[in-house]
Amino acid sequence: MKTLKNYIGGELCAPNSRQYLDNFEPATGQVYSQIPDSDEQDIHHAVDAARQAFPDWSACRAQQRSRCLEQLADAIAEHHEQLAQAESKDTGKPIQLSRKVDIQRAQDNLRFFAHAATQFSSESHATNSRTLNYTLRQPLGPVACISPWNLPLYLLTWKIAPALAAGNTVVAKPSEVTPYTAYLLSQLCIDIGLPPGVLNIVHGSGDQAGATLTTHEAIKAISFTGGSQTGTAIQRAVLGQHKKISLELGGKNPFIVFADCDLERAVDTACRAAFSNQGQICLCGSRIYVEEAIYDDFVAALITRMNQLTIGDPSNPKVDFGALVSAQHKTKVQSYLDLAKSEGGELLSATGHLDLPKRCQQGYFLKPTLVTGLKNQSRCNQEEIFGPVATVQKFLNQEDVLHLANDSAYGLAASIWTQDLKRAHQLAADIEAGIVWVNCWLLRDLRTPFGGMKASGLGREGGFEAMRFFTETKNVCIDYK
Ligand code: NAP
Repeated sequence: MKTLKNYIGGELCAPNSRQYLDNFEPATGQVYSQIPDSDEQDIHHAVDAARQAFPDWSACRAQQRSRCLEQLADAIAEHHEQLAQAESKDTGKPIQLSRKVDIQRAQDNLRFFAHAATQFSSESHATNSRTLNYTLRQPLGPVACISPWNLPLYLLTWKIAPALAAGNTVVAKPSEVTPYTAYLLSQLCIDIGLPPGVLNIVHGSGDQAGATLTTHEAIKAISFTGGSQTGTAIQRAVLGQHKKISLELGGKNPFIVFADCDLERAVDTACRAAFSNQGQICLCGSRIYVEEAIYDDFVAALITRMNQLTIGDPSNPKVDFGALVSAQHKTKVQSYLDLAKSEGGELLSATGHLDLPKRCQQGYFLKPTLVTGLKNQSRCNQEEIFGPVATVQKFLNQEDVLHLANDSAYGLAASIWTQDLKRAHQLAADIEAGIVWVNCWLLRDLRTPFGGMKASGLGREGGFEAMRFFTETKNVCIDYK
């Protein structure tokens, strides 16, 4: 069995306590590696390493930081298949998704910020002929990057790349549920000769390693992606510490289908939006609203599409729907299916045969399910299930669906399907969501700001916005009369 290590000060090291946590393969339900159960001492060690590395890293030329990020992207490209297999094994997601999306995007993140490092600039303003104001953006120091289990390497690199590009040093804590690709990344950092202490990766539980990291007095900023409750707990824990904080949290995203849409594309995308990665993407369209005139046709077509999904062993390249991430998470999702019934919903599960090989008999599999007949205020419509369960409801008109869509604590993303341009623009402006897709879903341009409103988060990631987050902004005003 593989024993993972922390990456601190440029070296792989065992946790101080020599205590480890089991890491399960979701497709089999078996333990396949052990990860460090890091404690306060490991976090202090990592923060010290980041502190020591900061003066040189922040002072070096942007081109040098850019080169390091490029080299790391090249190393990911070179080990693409190994990383994709590790990710699929760790998460239970279909290998084809790991190959096409996650590992590719990890590489893209690093390349994007390698380029951004050399393009990052600040402003100057001639207030009058003898007064100049300019803005200095300076790196903060050691920062914390905390990432969730659903897109492990993709989201870890999305955080560490802008932090490093802007001249900070990083202590990262990946999710204890899916640590493997972060461990492989630390090996790649050693291979490319990343200066020691610039990036440190500490494994362990959120309660212990995560909480110690976020509240450490030397940590100047926290970039967190995870659940809304955890985000709130972190906000509370660091209250009064004056750290910069960016929170990318949960979602319960409306997917709105008008009668004038391209029905085939809308159905196909609704299926992808609801069930990709077994519904475990923060941006999943888990509340589907369909205009009354096409409701029956849409639901029938969506069920047909769901029945075409190949559910099975995620290591099989033909499979497009794998296992949920953990036994605990499967139990949580199942509890929502029971709740949906008690709230008066009708469950329409994909009928596709679950043909699992012997090795997957104990895996955490659950068929995709559509729930009809629930009220908008039902818990299944209001709470983030984060699994292969989507609800579907009828609406009457634009005003009605706007009310339904905004009647939620969350505000991460929305997808609108219509050929009516005026309606699309109006809804895009009125919907309370940080990201609105029209006739598409999950298309991303890394230059654009990314993040949620309401309980879905605080702050924006992406592009120069992310680099600005990781800097202290100082205004200098010179009067040279
Ligand atoms: P989570 O339980 O909130 O955990 C996220 C990370 O925080 C993990 O590394 C976790 O460690 C750590 N953590 C837990 N408690 C902590 C604490 N008190 N202090 C510091 N760190 C702590 O979320 P998850 O279950 O991994 O991920 C699913 C959630 O993430 C969903 O709500 C999903 O919508 C959201 N998400 C949002 C986005 C976005 O961009 N908005 C993207 C992806 C996912 P452990 O794993 O060891 O507990």
